[in-house]
Amino acid sequence: MLELHSHTTCSDGSLTPAQLVQFAAAQGVKALAITDHDTMAGWDEAIATAMPLDIEIVPGLELSTVYNERSMHILGFYPDPEKLRSPLQARVEGRKRRARKMAEKLAALGYPIDLPDLSGAMAPGRPHIAAALKQAGHVSSDHEAFDRFLKDDGPAFVPYEKFTAQEGIELLLSCGAVPVWAHPCIFRGGTVERVLPELIKAGLMGIEVYHPTHSVSQTRQLEEYCQTYNLVMTGGSDYHGPKKEKNPDFRDLNALAVPLSLLPPLKAAAAHLNVTAHGIK
Ligand code: AMP
Ligand code: ZN
Ligand code: FE
Ligand code: FE
Repeated sequence: MLELHSHTTCSDGSLTPAQLVQFAAAQGVKALAITDHDTMAGWDEAIATAMPLDIEIVPGLELSTVYNERSMHILGFYPDPEKLRSPLQARVEGRKRRARKMAEKLAALGYPIDLPDLSGAMAPGRPHIAAALKQAGHVSSDHEAFDRFLKDDGPAFVPYEKFTAQEGIELLLSCGAVPVWAHPCIFRGGTVERVLPELIKAGLMGIEVYHPTHSVSQTRQLEEYCQTYNLVMTGGSDYHGPKKEKNPDFRDLNALAVPLSLLPPLKAAAAHLNVTAHGIK
């Protein structure tokens, strides 16, 4: 089937791009989007691995932005990597500064940790801090790490550096990428009904309708919004790797069985953007 949301070791996933692609192909996924947080670093390895397999790689990413002081994730599909490379580098540097700040807060609270190596292209996130907390013996699970320290109002939480959803959407559009609001129903800074028109005004082109955290009725509602506003629909399991512990946040790859029929409209939207950008239309 179709998987339009997944993470690798290039951000906070636990499988390498090659491992993820091999696993996805074995699970019967026909097209897989690599959507790491704020980085395109996993694409090349994924595309090379997919070559001899019966699976297509959809190049993507998941941008971390802020809306109403709350974390908002915007997926971008088919960006021009040359145009996006340098602005993304700035985002990844911001994530590294944020990781160091969270480590400082934890140390001040009496829970020092060893941060992972932050020198490469990898985009660090809260799951890396959770892993370091476990390694230091301060907590026994990711769940405990988030619950006691890292959740949005937790004592060691640090928000993303200021980068609004509107700026994120604008950046994606300027790089030829289709901007899609990721998992809208877990957004905490306002109702979908109220926020969606604002994002559309900024240039949003799609909604991630199918996500493991969405209920059946929420999914139906999002499908309706897509019809009303003429938006592209996407979906995926937000896969971060195989289950390592009892984690309520865990998602199975391909669990949603998203139909392949969603892919052509997404491709058409990307093609339309690029035609428009070159002034042909
Ligand atoms: P960040 O982008 O650094 O804020 O980290 C967000 C990531 O943390 C999400 O993609 C999830 O993988 C993970 N996450 C968020 N909340 C929890 C939680 N309560 N338990 C476990 N993982 C979580
Ligand atoms: Zn993640
Ligand atoms: Fe997300
Ligand atoms: Fe994600």
